[in-house]
Amino acid sequence: MENEKKKIAILGSTGSIGTQALEIVSEQSDFLQVEVLTANSNADLLIKQAIAYKPNHVVIADESKYLQVKEVLDPLDIKVFAGNKAIEELMEITEADTVLTAMVGYSGLLPTIKAIENKKRIALANKETLVVAGEIITQLCAENHVDIIPVDSEHSAIFQCLVGESLDALDKIILTASGGPFRGKKRDDLLEVTKLQALKHPNWSMGAKITIDSATLMNKGLEVIEAKWLFGLNQKQIEVVVHPQSIIHSMVEFTDGSIKAQMGLPDMKLPIHYAFFFPERKLSSFPRMRFSDIQQLTFEMPDPITFRNLGLAYEAMDKGGNMACILNAANEIAVDAFLKDKIKFLQIAELNEKCMNQVGFIQKPNIQDYINTDLETRRIAQQLLG
Ligand code: NDP
Ligand code: MG
Repeated sequence: MENEKKKIAILGSTGSIGTQALEIVSEQSDFLQVEVLTANSNADLLIKQAIAYKPNHVVIADESKYLQVKEVLDPLDIKVFAGNKAIEELMEITEADTVLTAMVGYSGLLPTIKAIENKKRIALANKETLVVAGEIITQLCAENHVDIIPVDSEHSAIFQCLVGESLDALDKIILTASGGPFRGKKRDDLLEVTKLQALKHPNWSMGAKITIDSATLMNKGLEVIEAKWLFGLNQKQIEVVVHPQSIIHSMVEFTDGSIKAQMGLPDMKLPIHYAFFFPERKLSSFPRMRFSDIQQLTFEMPDPITFRNLGLAYEAMDKGGNMACILNAANEIAVDAFLKDKIKFLQIAELNEKCMNQVGFIQKPNIQDYINTDLETRRIAQQLLG
């Protein structure tokens, strides 16, 4: 039995996705084994997780926490490393066969590249990786015969709808969006909204960055770009519809007009579980959706004028090159500034747009160009913040 277990590396194990993934490992401990856990700076939780799940390796990105983690885990025969570079290097030595990328933002890019080069199957939560460098990532996956199984609920839904179908028969996909806490509001209503209001997502409990992205609709914009790369689509094939109940996780429309939808309760454990076991479906103990509990499923069109970030994402996708990388980096700085009360809600999209206009455009970027673009955008964004 021991030999048949899937060996999992969880990058970002102390976050919202990471902790839910570990709950699945506990439930499926006959089938899953943790090889690697990583965190940014939450040493206490990382230590607790390592004691409970006994990985071979852990990484704490924040080097000042290294000794604290090492002191506890060394005697348990768990190897401890520190720094972001160590997360990348570990991808070369770990025996993990599947890597769950659950870090937040751009930090997921380089470790994901290393994991692909080392032929690990990718369970992708970190959508920013595909937003920043989708062309290079998909090409690397093809060269290394590596599959990406999406964890983002919308993309997992589309992936599930496409099982057994030919991509030639796909007409378009319909990504559902909850609309976030400010659904139906206009720009004037959003002038003074606070961080606390923006952090109150109606349906999902997630990390702070993606929760703000959901309130600005940047999250849906990032997901549009993520879908383009995952499923090889052009922008006319990606539609967004607001569905406040978050029961239909997304849909695929085929050339004959038939539409398939994947449904369930809004619970990220389901797509994580699916990604771990695909192509198998395993019994789970997750709460089940009952139609008798659902009064209605409703749909509205999104408002990309009020929620400018969604429009910017379509523009970045249309432009191609390093434009989505610029948008992503600007947005990371903008969200961080909003969370620190340095800018107002509507200024997030304003900063993103300014950076898209100011940072140098590169039509055919290589990896180094993406790294430079990310750094340059952050510098200009900070400058614009004053
Ligand atoms: P969280 O903020 O809850 O967790 C992020 C994790 O990454 C933590 O373990 C954190 O460590 C670690 N981390 C953060 N920054 C760095 C860094 N610079 N270097 C190394 N590690 C880092 O995020 P979520 O779990 O919400 O989201 C993770 C990813 O999954 C994001 O890309 C998000 O878009 C995507 N996603 C999330 C969903 C959700 O429901 N939460 C749904 C769909 C996609 P520490 O705890 O020490 O800070
Ligand atoms: Mg999503």
